[in-house]
Amino acid sequence: MPLHPPNTETIIQGTAVSPGIAFGPVHVVARGMIAPEVYEISENHVDYEISRFEAAIAKTKTQLSGIQKKIEDISGDHEGLIFEAHILILEDNSILKKVREGIASRLQNAEFVYYAVIQTYCEAIRRMNDKYLAERATDIDDVAQRVIRNFSSADDEHKSEDHNPDHKHIIVAYDLTPSDTATMDRQKSLGFITEQGSVNSHTAILSRSLGIPAIVGLENAVMSIKSLTFIILDGYTGQVILNPTPETVTKYRNIQRGKQAREIELDDIKESLTQTTDDRAITLSANIEFDHELTYVEKSGAEGIGLFRTEFYLLGGGEIPDENRQTRVYTEVAKRTQPHQAIIRTLDAGGDKLPAEPLPEPEPNPFLGWRGIRVSLSRQGMFKEQLRAILRASAHGKLGVMFPLISGLQELLQAKDILKECMDELNSAEIPFDPEMEVGMMIEVPSAALMAEELGKHVDFFSIGTNDLIQYTIAVDRVNKNVSNLYKPTNPAVIRLIDMTAQAARNNGIWTGVCGEMASDLSLTPLLVGLGIDELSVGTHQLPKIKKAVRSLHYGNCQDLAKEALKGRFSRDIYKLSQDMAHSSYSFLID
Ligand code: PEP
Ligand code: MG
Repeated sequence: MPLHPPNTETIIQGTAVSPGIAFGPVHVVARGMIAPEVYEISENHVDYEISRFEAAIAKTKTQLSGIQKKIEDISGDHEGLIFEAHILILEDNSILKKVREGIASRLQNAEFVYYAVIQTYCEAIRRMNDKYLAERATDIDDVAQRVIRNFSSADDEHKSEDHNPDHKHIIVAYDLTPSDTATMDRQKSLGFITEQGSVNSHTAILSRSLGIPAIVGLENAVMSIKSLTFIILDGYTGQVILNPTPETVTKYRNIQRGKQAREIELDDIKESLTQTTDDRAITLSANIEFDHELTYVEKSGAEGIGLFRTEFYLLGGGEIPDENRQTRVYTEVAKRTQPHQAIIRTLDAGGDKLPAEPLPEPEPNPFLGWRGIRVSLSRQGMFKEQLRAILRASAHGKLGVMFPLISGLQELLQAKDILKECMDELNSAEIPFDPEMEVGMMIEVPSAALMAEELGKHVDFFSIGTNDLIQYTIAVDRVNKNVSNLYKPTNPAVIRLIDMTAQAARNNGIWTGVCGEMASDLSLTPLLVGLGIDELSVGTHQLPKIKKAVRSLHYGNCQDLAKEALKGRFSRDIYKLSQDMAHSSYSFLID
């Protein structure tokens, strides 16, 4: 993939996943192996960089041959063969050629170019989904790691001035994990662009929560965009403008100012109730991943927290915080959300999020694997610490708790039994908690929606996690861009499951919320309101707009629309029904 030409305005299209416009120089990063530093070199130093690369390869070969010999001496020929294979990888001509060419065309340091080439290879192999080849990718990583360690460090004089990404920058990466995103330095990282990813991945959800403009699905970004290229990232349309002309910069500054002005206008309704023109009240609450987002929650006009995804807090920093530390965080959440309720979701590890603990080997289908409540029920010590911490914090404000990924009654009753045990323990120790704390469950698995009538007898509320409900209903991996065209919130089967859940809740006298990303889609607010959803829980950036949308709608009309939608046979027709009402009621909110 050639580099985009310098000094020429070029527009490339990706998928917008987090709104906002960022202007700044690119910083290309790579991950997986320990990423080497990246810096620019001048044309005069291309030969020097190539010689550093060749020296690193030669040194690695000597080391690998040495290891091979030693192993053969100890355990015979067979074990040594593995290192022979490593030497073949090391000397693979197509890799060596690509690196030499890459150094000359990208004008970047040899170790980074080598690293980027290896990453592309490994990802291509891993994508083939073949177990044997996946192991080869691990071998290639292994060899490459050694090569990178064997680079002699370049003299500082060979680095261009601005190699240090200490300045503000826009990250370009092959992919980012949710924890890469969570730990991004927001002072320096103005936005990010990845080759992989989808709107509903946790990386994308986090970027929206953190207010970082982001674009995913930009093919070949790592190999075709050079570090330090000045770009505009348009997180509304998914466009990336490389080397924009002064006119383009002015155009985007104006767009940015317009958007900011609208946000200020929306500020006026912060304190207003979220109710339709015919007085149907909706609870509009916020989704958070970190307690430091409480400031945004307070500013957004949210009526509580509908989803605190605790896994990023619990697993993001090495050791899982103990019960006392968790109690302090949940207490802070409870206090600062007063007089509203904050719903804490118990650990939802697995899937595309952080592993609860290293598994002996990667799961073939992580989204269908050891995830959500399944992890908690098999690690009861950890689960009880979290539950006791939530209960203890409930003495200081209005908290609720909910369980993720419940697939049936047995799991729910098991989780509730453990919660009861925790209550008994706290009672015996005379530690105060709120015995009336609401206990709910997420509806994310079709089996739970189908059993909602029965499940509703045992909980105080349902919170529909549409991100997962959609993927499990249509069998479409939420993070796989190859099938993202099938990922439709208005798939008729999904709409029926949502309706079934809301009806079962009404029959049981409990409330229903939606906390998946569907609740943030302004085009779908009429449909969700019409289906009788009581609570919408959304990212804080989108919250004022959803409030304004609900306040522009007529509940009776939305109910008629929902009836029509339930007869729909195609996703696009159902979407259009709702979108048309959204446009006629609040087109000024929709970009
Ligand atoms: C969901 O699945 O809709 C949800 C809110 O949970 P998460 O996105 O964390 O899986
Ligand atoms: Mg979920």
